[in-house]
Amino acid sequence: MEISALCLPEKKLNQLRSKGIDSVESLLWRFPNKYMDFTRITRLVRSNENVQLQGAFCCTVQRLEQSPRNAKIPYVLMKAQDSETGVNVSVFWFRQYLKYGTFHDVNAGDKYLICGTAQYSTEYNSYTISSPSVFSPFSPDKLRLYPFYRKIPQMADDYYRSAVAKALAFKAVCKEPYPTQISAGHGYPTLDSAIRTLHNPGSCEELKAAQERIVFDILFKFSLQLQNAQSRLSKGSQYNLRSMKMIRDIEAALPYSLTEGQRNVLSSMFASMRDGRRIHALVQGDVGSGKTVVAMLFMAALVDSGFQCALMAPSRVLAQQHYQDIRKTFEPYGVKVALCLGASGLKKADLKAIANGEIQIVVGSHAILSPKVQFKELAGIVVDEEHKFGVAQRNALVEKASAGVHSVTMSATPIPRSLAQVVYGDDVQLCTIKSMPKGRVPVKTACTHRVDKALEAVERQLRLGHQAFAVCPAIAPNEKTERASVTELAEQYKAYLEPRGFKVATLTGKDSKAAMEETIRAFAAGETHVLLSTTVIEVGVNIPNATLIVIHDADCFGLSSLHQLRGRVGRSSFPSYCALVSDQKDNERLKTMVETNSGFEIAKKDLEMRGAGDWLGADQTGNTEPVQFMLAYPEIYQMAREDASAALRAGVNWPIVQDAFKDADDNYTF
Ligand code: ADP
Ligand code: MG
Repeated sequence: MEISALCLPEKKLNQLRSKGIDSVESLLWRFPNKYMDFTRITRLVRSNENVQLQGAFCCTVQRLEQSPRNAKIPYVLMKAQDSETGVNVSVFWFRQYLKYGTFHDVNAGDKYLICGTAQYSTEYNSYTISSPSVFSPFSPDKLRLYPFYRKIPQMADDYYRSAVAKALAFKAVCKEPYPTQISAGHGYPTLDSAIRTLHNPGSCEELKAAQERIVFDILFKFSLQLQNAQSRLSKGSQYNLRSMKMIRDIEAALPYSLTEGQRNVLSSMFASMRDGRRIHALVQGDVGSGKTVVAMLFMAALVDSGFQCALMAPSRVLAQQHYQDIRKTFEPYGVKVALCLGASGLKKADLKAIANGEIQIVVGSHAILSPKVQFKELAGIVVDEEHKFGVAQRNALVEKASAGVHSVTMSATPIPRSLAQVVYGDDVQLCTIKSMPKGRVPVKTACTHRVDKALEAVERQLRLGHQAFAVCPAIAPNEKTERASVTELAEQYKAYLEPRGFKVATLTGKDSKAAMEETIRAFAAGETHVLLSTTVIEVGVNIPNATLIVIHDADCFGLSSLHQLRGRVGRSSFPSYCALVSDQKDNERLKTMVETNSGFEIAKKDLEMRGAGDWLGADQTGNTEPVQFMLAYPEIYQMAREDASAALRAGVNWPIVQDAFKDADDNYTF
């Protein structure tokens, strides 16, 4: 159902659409990212210390005050008392609340429910609450679990809630995607009731059951996809290795020698490819461990044997970079390489050259695997997954794999064997690059709240002849979020660095393709000194001369993003640094980053911290990585798996089954 069915003003509809909410269903499938338990009244009592209390308070209003006209930040102040203990409390609302006329019918003597954090001051013997999460006339039925949603730009939280309430007023918002016996058999509510509960939980138990139902559905669909894919994989391959000469030549020409870890991974891969077996390998190695060269040597063996290879990367920037590296490495041997960023992006001549085998290596997005690109004899596919590709893209591999094509997936996210087998198939061969290249010094990480300090650190590295990355969460300034933006920081960086003779370049997903390519090229060539960007550089970008990365408003990023970003430096034997700029002194994620450099530790911490609170919060679009759920809910996954194999054996055709087999779309993510 179109989102306009909610009959909201067009302006409001557009605000929802800006976050991808274009239907009633997508509004309902956007679940709260946290719940707060305001089921019980907490009484405000006098204390000998400046304590903080979080909870639901019941207060009697005394009077309302407006801020003076010349106040820097306008506010409304409500003086009240706890209706039982009589302790004084001052409640403040800053800025936007003034607009909504919330206070018209607040009168002295009224009882109100106020939920939030109350700070006690022993000096004034009273509490202060700023911008409470809930404020409404008191009645016992208002004491409940309150859902909280990620913010929609420009929209008040209460307005968003009322939109959700309108959507819920439609009858039967969701059809069951498979027979209810299955979900009921596990004790789950219907999908419709689960969704209603998630937006409007009656109790913690009810909420838990509803969450489990959703998790089950996600894992059920995921299992269907996987099992369907795996049943079509081939164990054998006709693409056998015939020559190892090119590998030896390329290896000899490398400016370094391979680490033991790299060597072991290569030899175990080649060992498995003997005797006509198809290799299906997952190469794991922390950021900077040197996975790319392993992939190149793997491709060299196949190309040298007369076949073609493809390499897929999860972003345009990364595909571009791999393309340059691969071309440089292979050109001396007369190997032709093409870049393919979308099936329609290839020239007719290139398509023809791929079809007749003249071009041996194609680098690009998963569009490489679309039927438009016909290979003469594709024998190997490398997926540089880092942590960005999803299951959908992985499935694109299956068609090819069923024809005996070897596949190698490179990942920086360490996952245990049992899980890898589940995700990538029972026959997956786990290869771990255990050692880092010689001479690597662990990246030193520090937190600061001062941008000027960060700029000084940048200058120090530039004076040593190195380069620096600077990353921030936003492209342009935005009053609401007040997050550091490329536009703003570019001014600051340029003002400081240009008089000192250094060049600052900027890069965002908004730049044209050509501009992006040029920016990266110039930075890689050392023509610019600082690359200020959004997270477009997050995965894989390799500029060994860069020895410092400054991450602005670092608290806005998730742990795995921070780890990936930090992995952009420390790619040489020079000491490297990561500066996390943030106002949040006690941020757990930032602390973890300072404490450890190990991708494994960080992945573990990440899962722990995500925990139940942010259970569906993987990203704004609602595209959660099922793997997260598999780890968090192993019992549910077990059930989903069994149900999926039974369903596939029975050859049923429920909506969820069709849905799971839909082709991945062709969109390229940045
Ligand atoms: P990742 O595993 O994160 O994909 P890359 O493949 O991008 O890492 O490699 C990181 C850097 O390490 C690159 O500059 C690469 O040239 C370099 N490198 C790779 N292997 C070695 C090695 N054995 N010795 C020294 N440097 C290496
Ligand atoms: Mg890489």
